[in-house]
Amino acid sequence: MDTLIKTLRANKPEGKPSETRPSETKLAAERPAELDPSEFLAAAVRPDRPRPSRAEAEAAVYTLLNYIGEDPTREGLIDTPRRVVEAYDELFQGYHQCPAEVLDRTFGETAGYDDFVLIRDIEFTSQCEHHMMPFYGRAHIAYTPVERVVGLSKLARLTDIFARRLQTQEHLTAQIAAAIDEVLKPRGVAVMIEAEHTCMSVRGVAKHGAVTFTSRFTGMFRDNPAEQSRFLSMVRSPQR
Ligand SMILES: [Zn+2]
Repeated sequence: MDTLIKTLRANKPEGKPSETRPSETKLAAERPAELDPSEFLAAAVRPDRPRPSRAEAEAAVYTLLNYIGEDPTREGLIDTPRRVVEAYDELFQGYHQCPAEVLDRTFGETAGYDDFVLIRDIEFTSQCEHHMMPFYGRAHIAYTPVERVVGLSKLARLTDIFARRLQTQEHLTAQIAAAIDEVLKPRGVAVMIEAEHTCMSVRGVAKHGAVTFTSRFTGMFRDNPAEQSRFLSMVRSPQR
């Protein structure tokens, strides 16, 4: 079995340039070392931003059909451009949703609870930004609340919002952690994602079953290896 394991650390070692730059001026070119908060806190698409019309989007699909050698006017394909654009509306609805809003409704009481909360096996499907092909798998998210506790379904919703955009797995992992960090201000966040990339399993090297792992740790999870390994062993424990 081919298993590709990639572990990404949340922060660069001390003294790296990415840590000394003023965070206010971060921009997309420097992702994902540091993320622009507008990426993980706001809807990605402003309502006033000009976009191509639906007819233009369908025409683009028509062109692609022609490009691959198809006859877009044959019966089976007549409605395909419309269906593809509708599918895109669904697969990419995360651009219109606001991650911070999902986390905003919190409960103010931890009732003395001082351990981390772990939600395991959140299934998701996303689309890779390099090939616009699906990658899918499971996210595992833990955070240690200080004051603000969020409804458990909200972390699944948060994962979906980011997953329903063009992504790299590294980015998806980092954005989920950053949003929880920023909005809930917990003592720490741990996010691990395991996923299979169809751009790798059905094209390119065509390796089925290869799983890519990414992780991101902040706060106490970053600083305390014991907490990190406790998180990892709970994620990997066989009681599924
Ligand atoms: Zn890809």
